[in-house]
Parts: sequence; structure tokens; C-alpha cells
Amino acid sequence: MVLKCVVFECTNRKDRDKHLQFYRLPAVVVNQGEDCENLSSERRREWLASLGQKFENRNMGNIRICSAHFIGGEKARLYDKGNPNWVPTVNVGHGENVLKQTMAVNRYNRLHNRQKRKQRKRSSLWKRVGVGKQETLQGE
Ligand SMILES: [Zn+2]
Repeated sequence: MVLKCVVFECTNRKDRDKHLQFYRLPAVVVNQGEDCENLSSERRREWLASLGQKFENRNMGNIRICSAHFIGGEKARLYDKGNPNWVPTVNVGHGENVLKQTMAVNRYNRLHNRQKRKQRKRSSLWKRVGVGKQETLQGE
């Protein structure tokens, strides 16, 4: 299986783009104390939030984020939380924008369909008033 960067619209692939690193999603570290566990689960959450995608039905172990999404091309270490590279920030999160766009388009279509339905109702009303007999043929 070809490992591809999971970032929306990023086409970098591990087999082709050898100059890049491909990072796994940070794992939650459970065997090095509570602080470490909290910190690592926070980082995992932040990465997921930054990617802005839904990963239901995905094997999280196969997810890779390429180093192009880190300033200077390198992720920060777990304990280096103040570092801007603690989470990927370069050209990420487009998924969310697209989702918003899709929602806006859907909303527009719904409105549009509602108006069309209204128009149809009005015209069938006109038919009923106008042509009596046609009403049974047309139905609603
Ligand atoms: Zn990438």
C-alpha cells in the first residue's frame, strides 16, 4: 500500500517524495506517567483538530502527515509544547473549509428546492382553478 499524506489536497507520497518525512499521528503514551499521557493525548487531539477531517472507518495506524506541513519541515518533540511545530499548521485544515463550503452549497440547494416546490404548488393550484379535469391526471 502506498502511504500518502492525509492532509487535504496534499499529494505527497512516501515512495516518491523521499526528501520528506512522513509522520504518524502522535500516539497517546500510556506508560510514562499521567503528565505524559495527558500531553500526548492533547497533542493527538490537536493534530486531528488541525487536520480538520473525519477519520471514521479509517485505520489510524495508516495515517501519515508529511513534513511539508511543519514550519521548517520538522515536527517538534512531545515536551516542546510551545513550539509552533507541536502541531502541523502549514497548508492544513482545508477539509474544514471545504466542509463549510459544502454545507453552504447544500443550504443554498435546499432553499432553491423549497422555492421550486412552492412555485410548483402555486402552478398546480392555478391548474386546479383553471382546468378542473386535469387535476386528477396531474396529481400533486
Ligand atoms: Zn502533506
